[in-house]
Amino acid sequence: MARYTGAVCRLCRREGMKLFLKGDRCYGGKCAFERRSYAPGQHGQGRKKISDYGVQLREKQKAKRIYGLLENQFRRTYDRAEKLRGITGENLLKLLEMRLDNVVFRLGYGNSRTEARQLVTHGHFLVNGKKVDIPSYSVKAGDVITVREKSRASELFKTFAENPKSLPKWLSGDVATFTGKVEAIPAREDIDVPVNETLIVELYSK
Ligand code: SF4
Repeated sequence: MARYTGAVCRLCRREGMKLFLKGDRCYGGKCAFERRSYAPGQHGQGRKKISDYGVQLREKQKAKRIYGLLENQFRRTYDRAEKLRGITGENLLKLLEMRLDNVVFRLGYGNSRTEARQLVTHGHFLVNGKKVDIPSYSVKAGDVITVREKSRASELFKTFAENPKSLPKWLSGDVATFTGKVEAIPAREDIDVPVNETLIVELYSK
């Protein structure tokens, strides 16, 4: 499975905001964006003027980076969103939110989506009782996500259980019992990512 393997903090600096891609490190004094909040590279502190196309492009790149997708994966998700009923931009965000790696992250397993993705790939989760190790797997309303019995005793999962996160309202469950449920498809207002999806639609509609 292809994934971005370059320097992660560069991505925040490029987008001009903290994208919280590194878990705990993002909340401490070691955050690269806190120390150098300008774009990377030789001209990072130079020209600031940006065209309409540039604004749209940056918004798409930001969304891609938050969810940890490469261009082809992101474009495929967009194509799926376009075919669904409703507003394409909102559909896109909903599809991204309902990826298994994101749901696992939202449920409190992993300090970042990257870590959650790795946990999925390593086969730690069951969806409705069946092992699913595909991060892009799209969950549905009513799906129950549990941690595999064998994984529950590991130090890592014990740590997650001791540090529960607050859940978005479209999810329920408890890391202490290693179970989560997708209560509903998230509404746009339930998705707290700082992305203007309309700009992405404008970009891909050119
Ligand atoms: Fe971004 Fe986190 Fe790196 Fe800070 S530490 S620049 S928020 S990935």
